[in-house]
Amino acid sequence: MPYVGSVTSASSSYDVVVVGGGHNGLAAAAYLARAGRSVLVLERLERTGGAARWSPDAALPEVVAADLGLDLRLQPRPVTDELARAVLPTLVRPLPLEREVRAQVPAWDELTTSPLDLHVRLRASLPAVTGGGDAVADALDAAARAAGAEIRTAAGVSGIRADDADAEVTWHDGATSRTVGARHVLANVAPWVLAILLGEPEDPATKPHWEGDTGVDPAEVEREFAMPGGHWYHGELDWPWAPNRARLDTPAQRWGVHTDVASVLVCGSGARRGGGVTALGGHNAAQAVLARG
Ligand SMILES: Cc1cc2nc3c(=O)[nH]c(=O)nc-3n(C[C@H](O)[C@H](O)[C@H](O)COP(=O)(O)OP(=O)(O)OC[C@H]3O[C@@H](n4cnc5c(N)ncnc54)[C@H](O)[C@@H]3O)c2cc1C
Repeated sequence: MPYVGSVTSASSSYDVVVVGGGHNGLAAAAYLARAGRSVLVLERLERTGGAARWSPDAALPEVVAADLGLDLRLQPRPVTDELARAVLPTLVRPLPLEREVRAQVPAWDELTTSPLDLHVRLRASLPAVTGGGDAVADALDAAARAAGAEIRTAAGVSGIRADDADAEVTWHDGATSRTVGARHVLANVAPWVLAILLGEPEDPATKPHWEGDTGVDPAEVEREFAMPGGHWYHGELDWPWAPNRARLDTPAQRWGVHTDVASVLVCGSGARRGGGVTALGGHNAAQAVLARG
C-alpha cells in the first residue's frame, strides 16, 4: 500500500489514524500531533470522550497533565502499598520485567492477588482529577485539537486493511464512506472489536464478559460505546509488567501496545497498562509510535 506522506488536514493519508475518540485516543492524538505527526481521530459517536463521560472517578499521572498542558486540577494521593510504589513510576515508561518489580517487593505473594486488584490500587495511588472522567475527556479533546489533530465525530470505522508497513482505514458518516491511508493505526477500540475491523470473523467464544460493577446494565454500555460485553476495560486486565521471557524486540512490545501487525497498535483500555480513566493507554501507544520513528 503506498504511503503518501505527511499532510495537514482533510487529507487522504495521515501519519496516524486513531480509531475511536475515547479519552485514550485523544491522549495519543494530543501527544502525536504535538510531536508534529499528522493525526486523524475517527469517533462513531457525536461526541468524543467515550466511557470516560460515564466515569465519576478519574486518575492521571502528573507527567501526562504537564506534557499536554491540560487544564485540570490534580489531587495527589498516598500510595496504597509497596507493590504500587514499585510499579507506579514504571507505568509511563517501557515495561519492566516481572523479576525487576518482584525484587523490590518482599510481600510479593500477598500483594499479587489479581491484575484487577492491583489495577484498582494503582489507580487509587495516582492523582485524582477534579471533575472525573468528563473533565479529563474535555481537557484531552481540547489538547488534541490545539495541537492540530483532526477529529471527526459521527465517523464509524467499518474496516482496517493493514500490513506491517502501513494501513488503510475505511469509515462512514452515515452518508458517505471514505478510505484514508495511515503509517500507523492506533486502536482505541477493544481488541475484540479490532480483530473484526481487521477482517477476522466475529468469535463469540472470545468475546469479553463484564462481571464487575453492575450499577449500569452491560448491554447499555455495549450499545453506547461498542465495548464488547459491556466490559469497562475492553477485556480482562493483565499484569502491568512483562513476563520474564516476553519478546520485547519492538517499541510496541516494549510499551505493551503491540498487535500481530506492526502498523497497528492498541491505544486504549486493551493495552497492557490501559483500563480505567488514566490516559496510560494513549500515552504509551504514542511513545511507541514516536520510538518507532
Ligand atoms: C458506567 C461506567 C462507569 C465507570 N466508572 C469508572 C470510574 O469511576 N473510574 C475509572 O477509572 N473508570 C471507570 N469506568 C471505566 C472507564 O470508563 C473506561 O475503562 C475508560 O473510559 C476506557 O477509555 P478508552 O479511551 O480506552 O476507551 P473507550 O472509552 O471505550 O473509547 C473508545 C471509543 O471508541 C469508539 N468506537 C468504538 N467503535 C468504533 C468504531 N468502529 N469507529 C469509531 N469509533 C468507535 C467508542 O464510541 C468510544 O468513544 C467506567 C465505565 C463505565 C461504563
